[in-house]
Amino acid sequence: LSYELTRDKGLPNTTKDGFRIKLMINCNYGTDLHKARLLGANGVGLFRSELAFMQLEQFPSESAQSVIYRELFEEFKHSTITIRTLDIGGDKQLSYFPIKEENPFLGWRGIRVTLDHPEIFLVQLRAIFKASAGYSKLKLALPMVSTLEELNECYRLIHQAFAEVEEELKFTHKVLKKPKIGITLEVPAALFNLTTFTKRVDFISIGTNDLIQYLMAVDRNNLQVKSLYSHYQPSVLHALKQIATECDKSSTPIQVCGEMAADPLAALLLVGMGYHDLSMNVISLAKVKRAISRFELAELQDMAATVLTFETEVKIKRYMMKMIENKG
Ligand code: PEP
Ligand code: MG
Repeated sequence: LSYELTRDKGLPNTTKDGFRIKLMINCNYGTDLHKARLLGANGVGLFRSELAFMQLEQFPSESAQSVIYRELFEEFKHSTITIRTLDIGGDKQLSYFPIKEENPFLGWRGIRVTLDHPEIFLVQLRAIFKASAGYSKLKLALPMVSTLEELNECYRLIHQAFAEVEEELKFTHKVLKKPKIGITLEVPAALFNLTTFTKRVDFISIGTNDLIQYLMAVDRNNLQVKSLYSHYQPSVLHALKQIATECDKSSTPIQVCGEMAADPLAALLLVGMGYHDLSMNVISLAKVKRAISRFELAELQDMAATVLTFETEVKIKRYMMKMIENKG
């Protein structure tokens, strides 16, 4: 581990005035979890479960999946682990389950696929629950949910899988705790119908990568329109502020799992808007932690309120650069 990455690892993740911020990791099968924990990660904010599926030649069995998920709980024994259920489609393909469409990002992806294939979903849910037995802090994030019907159907299948695993583990000494269940907020339709969801979920995880793509109507992987794909766009920031405000009103816990949280300047704005649980790639942990530690919470709140009055992306970015430069 390089000095640059580790020098602050022993320090708690806080603002300058000691306000705790949870910095977690986005990871997948193969991520060095031990290293992430040594770097001071406060848990796993997003486990992209599909990456393991993508490396295989066929759908992994329940027991094979369970081994993969178990590693998370073993490494982060006392921390929260958010596992996102299979999120294929879009740009994520399985060789053994090809999806061919005109508009993959607007097509059959995320929960839409797994709800059409409950046999795949149920195996995964059972594997996750079995892996979590004996640990208490599982959060289950459901990707690409856009309607209440989808959420209700998810709950039905989750309860079914949970009851099955509970029955199976009845005579063991393993304690199976109910998971927290949330949606990955990445479809604007869910944003504009947020109270329907906040009433029913334990948490909301904001997937800024896709949320920006759909808000700006810009393919997240298309270099031609890359300049529009920005988390400093006023419309994106207003959307995020609206989510934070609504979730605060209903006391729904929020976390950010999109890569916006990995950009130190954007992370400052997120904290200022009320997002205190951020998840990002391992490499970004140290720099985000350092940026946040240089500002008091009230300063970050002021900064967020100020940028929300700006009308262009350029102005917002410039202002944020100036703020960090002022810190020397
Ligand atoms: C997101 O959409 O922000 C997200 C975290 O998921 P992914 O990048 O895997 O689509
Ligand atoms: Mg996404």
